[in-house]
Amino acid sequence: MRVCALDRYNRIPEGDVCRGSPLWGGTDSGGDRRRLVAAAPVWCMHVGIIGAGAAASAAAYVIDGSTDAELTVLEKSGGLCGRAATRRRGPVTYDYGANYFKDDDERVVDLVTEQLDSEGLENIEEPIWVFDEEGTVSEGRDSDDRKLTYRQGLTQLAKRLFGHTNATVHRSTRVEGIERTDTGWHLTDADGGEWGPFDALLCNPPAPQTAALLRDADWDDPARESLVEAAESVDYRTVWTAILGYEFRLDRPYYALVNPDKSLDIDWLAREECKPGRVPDGQSVLLVQANSDWSVDHYDDPPAENIETLAGLTADIVGDERLADPAWTDHQGWRVALPENGAPEGPLQTAERAGLYVLGDWVAGEARLHAALRNGLDTGERLALASAQ
Ligand SMILES: Cc1cc2nc3c(=O)[nH]c(=O)nc-3n(C[C@H](O)[C@H](O)[C@H](O)COP(=O)(O)OP(=O)(O)OC[C@H]3O[C@@H](n4cnc5c(N)ncnc54)[C@H](O)[C@@H]3O)c2cc1C
Repeated sequence: MRVCALDRYNRIPEGDVCRGSPLWGGTDSGGDRRRLVAAAPVWCMHVGIIGAGAAASAAAYVIDGSTDAELTVLEKSGGLCGRAATRRRGPVTYDYGANYFKDDDERVVDLVTEQLDSEGLENIEEPIWVFDEEGTVSEGRDSDDRKLTYRQGLTQLAKRLFGHTNATVHRSTRVEGIERTDTGWHLTDADGGEWGPFDALLCNPPAPQTAALLRDADWDDPARESLVEAAESVDYRTVWTAILGYEFRLDRPYYALVNPDKSLDIDWLAREECKPGRVPDGQSVLLVQANSDWSVDHYDDPPAENIETLAGLTADIVGDERLADPAWTDHQGWRVALPENGAPEGPLQTAERAGLYVLGDWVAGEARLHAALRNGLDTGERLALASAQ
């Protein structure tokens, strides 16, 4: 390791330090609220990050603002933000993974409204209604929570967070091997590329993918096996998603319909046109999520068949026969979609002492974007604190 000079974030907390964290604090002259580690010299680290999901981007944002660490991010896909995913089709922009994020976490709200550029950050005004087994659509329970999104798509979250850092993000780079040696953590990608050594490693993939990486890791430590077991204990729901485009505007008072008792083949359908700036006037785009059992049973069926079935069911639920015949369609299978439980904390903490941090919604124990972001912020802070000690 080399020792770096103090940076502009390395200072004693001032003013209102705590938002539930020992590091969170006031604002520097540039308005930056990351940081506040300790007034001791900082060990300059090389940090490797597997995955560029919401949690990883939030952690990178904090680490970059709190330390002089060099950050290298390896992301297997061509985009950022993982399961919060956005596609474009001509003038239409739609999210095909997460739909929106809630304002449930004060720090995440502060992050997106005060620290990041809030241009294009929007609340979805229309409510969420419910539908039941009898096909009845009713007002149901809509909470006062805001449903936040960006005009440009939810991927803005990771783009804006990484955009604030000096992290080097390598897309289309799938990590296949992890090795721990005396010099640190080493990674191998699917093309045989070698990365590292890293003083600390952040692992953001969903629990089954993290477990698979660690199961095969060349890391001779009892912490490895415990961490694998912890990750393997997390169960997931599968979601098969159809995106249905129409050349007319659907006139309904709700943004989305949810089937709370999960008794039907469709769990959720949402109107992307309720998100400002997404769908041109005179058009509609429906995002239809099949329930987990249906998604597992039909995961490998021909997509056209699945879409036809889901479009027909959508027409029945919404009560408009035109919806059975979309003008264009898209689809996405999410085999590992939503964690149903969290991982036990003990093995995760033990691994952190060896410099390996797992992070994401499955660590938070909540299949929510705001929970993943919060977990990333907290993880980044723990790493920054550890680096200062
Ligand atoms: C269909 C669906 C609907 C959802 N709806 C909502 C919603 O409306 N509201 C809400 O709050 N949440 C929703 N969620 C949940 C939300 O998307 C997640 O909680 C959140 O995105 C998780 O972020 P993360 O950083 O934990 O993980 P991820 O987003 O999964 O990020 C992990 C990253 O790691 C990468 N990766 C994996 N393996 C490797 C590897 N070997 N090498 C390199 N990179 C790798 C992945 O490509 C990915 O980019 C939904 C999820 C799905 C699937």
